Amino acid sequence: MNIESKLSGHWTDEQLIEHLYGIGPEGNHVEECGDCRERLSRMVAARRAIEAECAPLEQVPFDLLAAQRRSIYARLAQRPAARLGLRMRQWAAAAAMIALLGGGAFLYEQNQRQQALQNKVTDAQLAQEVSAIAQASEPNSTAPLQELFVE
Ligand SMILES: [Zn+2]
Repeated sequence: MNIESKLSGHWTDEQLIEHLYGIGPEGNHVEECGDCRERLSRMVAARRAIEAECAPLEQVPFDLLAAQRRSIYARLAQRPAARLGLRMRQWAAAAAMIALLGGGAFLYEQNQRQQALQNKVTDAQLAQEVSAIAQASEPNSTAPLQELFVE
């Protein structure tokens, strides 16, 4: 309910909907007011459209649905080759994915190994340099502490 329609005296959408379902507000504003009557008739039309769309579904007899379902199952059963084909495609997709992942892992591993080879010398040098610096700059008091971190 908005203030504007309260001031103008027009019914809100909510009030019109309530009127539509027979629980609306007291009074005959909707009969006297052209604006609200038009809005109401639009709502009625919309509701009819929705009901028309839903009603056929509700009215479809259960037997018809059952028959439809049976015919679908029958058609599926008649095409085992097609289903097998689908399953094969799924397997092929899965296999391709596994191959892709495996290939990716292999490439990654190779790359790592190459990098390790390239870095080997520099890593060793770096470690030596770092330990030399550490030994040179480390005060004696921290030596026992360092032992805690040696594995
Ligand atoms: Zn009105």
